[in-house]
Amino acid sequence: MKTNFSETQMNKPAIQIANDILRNCVHCGFCLATCPTYVILGNELDSPRGRIYQIRDMLEQGPAAAGKKDKKIVKHIDRCLSCLSCMTTCPSGVDYMHLVDHARAVIEKNHTRPLPERMLRQLLAFVLPNSKLFRLSLIGAKLARPLARYMPGRLKVLVEMAPKNIPSPSPIDIPGISKALIKRKMRVGLMPGCAQKTLNPAINEATVRLLTRLGCDVVVVDGVGCCGALVHHLGMEDKALVQARENVRAWTNEIESRGLDGIVINASGCGTTLKDYGHMLKEDPTWAEPARKVSELSKDVSEIIMEIGIDNIASMLVDIIQKPSVAYHSACSMQHGQKLITQPIELLKAAGFDVREPSEPHLCCGSAGTYNIMQPELAGQLGKRKVKNISATAADIIATGNIGCMVQLAGHGDMPIAHTVQLLDWATGGPEPLL
Ligand code: SF4
Ligand code: SF4
Repeated sequence: MKTNFSETQMNKPAIQIANDILRNCVHCGFCLATCPTYVILGNELDSPRGRIYQIRDMLEQGPAAAGKKDKKIVKHIDRCLSCLSCMTTCPSGVDYMHLVDHARAVIEKNHTRPLPERMLRQLLAFVLPNSKLFRLSLIGAKLARPLARYMPGRLKVLVEMAPKNIPSPSPIDIPGISKALIKRKMRVGLMPGCAQKTLNPAINEATVRLLTRLGCDVVVVDGVGCCGALVHHLGMEDKALVQARENVRAWTNEIESRGLDGIVINASGCGTTLKDYGHMLKEDPTWAEPARKVSELSKDVSEIIMEIGIDNIASMLVDIIQKPSVAYHSACSMQHGQKLITQPIELLKAAGFDVREPSEPHLCCGSAGTYNIMQPELAGQLGKRKVKNISATAADIIATGNIGCMVQLAGHGDMPIAHTVQLLDWATGGPEPLL
């Protein structure tokens, strides 16, 4: 794609990166067919190629193009799920993720949204990354649920999304170490997360049980909090960088003092972001190198178990009277963001589950961070479509590796859902997941 940035613009590192990405696009349009918003809306402006053109125009014209008057590009960028399906399809290797991340940050700095929308975005950015506040807000939403139908649009969506049961915090998330139950093979740091540990603390508990059983010391490092993905996807770059730096600082202390063989993530949305810390902090003279190291060490829990050896799962199986059949839903951040496609399926099969793969596996379920709150209509259509495809497998339960997908799928169907690691833990001696 031709670009026409001025010399002054090209002096900015962010524009240099955007220019390189834009120039890789050969406008072939292969990405259109696998883009969820194009599949649903059929509008080129809501396709990856259309968005790339719009971002180029916005960046060439300067921040004013995303200013108060031009709402058009904002609408089409806001509708993008950042699912990265287009990156999997693109034959030219266009780095759409970093392009749209930059576009969102430019929009956030220059565009003035209507007051209710600004308030909602600030509220989400303030509450979601803080697990204590998030828990309190879930309790409030649960109490307000009977009044939900009288509430305006997005407030109603928020209240209705709150789970009926809000679990107590788990001691596993308190900083400390869980020792390997057999001879130690690895010492790993667990990313405790924010929303996940509030909504479903059983996932971290299952992860620690499984990894210690497989021979890992698992450390929850003091000072590690939200990965920053939620605010990053809202375009709040500065807030995301603050969270990234805090986590890098905490893990670097641990790496330098006692050493870590890996950082384990069991929410693939967070995993994609942690693996990108090296890029996010590349201009930071203090944190660029430590961030690169943290990204290098960051692995999804399925990758860590594969590294330890899939045979270990097969050798630890316990008797389960009737193992359920499993429909595996691959989160976008897992398959497109981290390119982890076969690992969770192979592990579930090794654990003795009959694994079924739904059709249209590449299409997003509509969760996408805060997308199901900010774009409820599109997210709802995608959620229903995904649940229909999953139901067609006639499996007993759904397995997935991302809490956002678990919440979204639970909101559009009644099949039981478990995290992949909960099933692996159960198959190797842990408790049956409460479905
Ligand atoms: S597939 Fe890649 S090169 Fe082709 S239009 Fe889409 S982003 Fe551009
Ligand atoms: S990230 Fe997903 S929604 Fe956005 S343009 Fe790419 S395929 Fe479409």
